[in-house]
Amino acid sequence: MVWKTLEYTGWGRARSATGEVARPERQSALKRMVAETPAPAFGMRRSYGDAALNSDGRAYDMTRLDRVLSFDEATGVVEVEAGMPIGDLGRAFAAKGWIPPVMPGTGFATVGGCIANDVHGKNHHVAGSFGQHVTEITLIQNGKPRKITPKSTPTLWKATVGGLGQTGVISRAKIAMMKCKGDMMVLTERRIDNLDEFLVAFDESRTDYTVGWIDATAKGDALGRGILEEGEITSGVPNRKDKTREVPFNAPSWALSAPVVRLFNELYFRRVPAKGRTSVKPIEEPFFPLDAIHNWNRLYGKQGFNQFQCVVPLEKTNCLRIMLERIGQSGLASPLAVLKKMGTGRGGYMSFPMEGYTLAVDFPNRAGAEFLIAELTDMAREAGGRIYFAKDGVATPEQIAGMYPEQADWAAAVAKADPDRSYETDLVRRLKLRDAKGAK
Ligand SMILES: Cc1cc2nc3c(=O)[nH]c(=O)nc-3n(C[C@H](O)[C@H](O)[C@H](O)COP(=O)(O)OP(=O)(O)OC[C@H]3O[C@@H](n4cnc5c(N)ncnc54)[C@H](O)[C@@H]3O)c2cc1C
Repeated sequence: MVWKTLEYTGWGRARSATGEVARPERQSALKRMVAETPAPAFGMRRSYGDAALNSDGRAYDMTRLDRVLSFDEATGVVEVEAGMPIGDLGRAFAAKGWIPPVMPGTGFATVGGCIANDVHGKNHHVAGSFGQHVTEITLIQNGKPRKITPKSTPTLWKATVGGLGQTGVISRAKIAMMKCKGDMMVLTERRIDNLDEFLVAFDESRTDYTVGWIDATAKGDALGRGILEEGEITSGVPNRKDKTREVPFNAPSWALSAPVVRLFNELYFRRVPAKGRTSVKPIEEPFFPLDAIHNWNRLYGKQGFNQFQCVVPLEKTNCLRIMLERIGQSGLASPLAVLKKMGTGRGGYMSFPMEGYTLAVDFPNRAGAEFLIAELTDMAREAGGRIYFAKDGVATPEQIAGMYPEQADWAAAVAKADPDRSYETDLVRRLKLRDAKGAK
């Protein structure tokens, strides 16, 4: 049987779908199947909410289409199948002196998923978003593969990059890799005592890779404290190596109760000595810190979790402060919270990045958490910011209205590419993304 009925979830496990899924192994099979059944594709379902789900419909699991097709040593352009995990690409090429210019915080994300969400990395302030380094995409629309580039079809390109898979199935892509010194990272970590100090540290940081872990339980004078990580790619041998671990079962509900999280965060903060520390690590450890703990999403128990991620303009630091106060008061935060300063780079109409500060916090799927996320979403909108669809599972169409100024242009391009709405997903339907009118 090609199509199997499955119940499957987003990474947060708070949203699930039941539907028929096919896992084609060859480009020829994919082409034939999409001609018969145009339907959305998904990669590793590392999107937290329902971006990769299609309830009561069909979907293509792309993970068997994970081959490197060609590499041009003169230009550094690699062509891969869309189901290739970005971390595998990094591992295969870094020792040879090439690296994907942008990698998100998980190496499990596939190239197709990285394009469809136009992901950003810890170097967004210098390298922009993933889609800005893609030079060609092969898109299958109703079974016909079509090669598109930013020049040949600019509107379709901008609707595809960051376009949540709504223009068709991405079957292959060419990426302009970046030269790198090796497969190690020299990483400096230092404690930051509060939000103001964090903002100054981001301004002063000169490294290519910069990100902050933030203690979302901290209050008062310690509000916004955390650890700043600054890294540069290098060669050589590691002087520290983390171990891979597995979460074998769903954690009990007390594991992420407020006192346990507060204690964990205190210890995590003090793990870095007051004077800071520098180490050399294999690149995957700082790039993908959570991938070392397989199935870490089970730590949130059967109910799963939601992540809130927003970006607000640079001048709206007060909004960040109020958000952190609300999160601290709520007692709902988990230890996973990240703050980063973003640059301007974005590749498509619906790309998330904008110049500003991005805050991401995980919340166990408990009473009050969705209400809190709704409040934070409203604050982001009022500040002229936006939320990230790769992480969302709870927003409403009214809340996101106006967050993406080019949404109507995207919706018009998508309507042309897919007039029958064959590639719609649960997220796109929930947020009525394709109903936006008023294209310029
Ligand atoms: C631990 C962790 C850390 C993360 N850190 C970051 C980060 O730093 N920066 C960031 O930007 N994101 C981050 N993310 C989010 C993640 O990078 C994105 O959700 C990414 O899209 C996941 O890729 P995927 O292959 O799992 O895609 P999926 O989640 O399976 O799908 C994502 C979207 O892409 C579409 N899609 C996937 N493949 C195709 C295809 N071949 N053709 C057409 N459409 C397709 C799907 O329909 C869906 O809309 C993180 C996620 C995790 C779990």
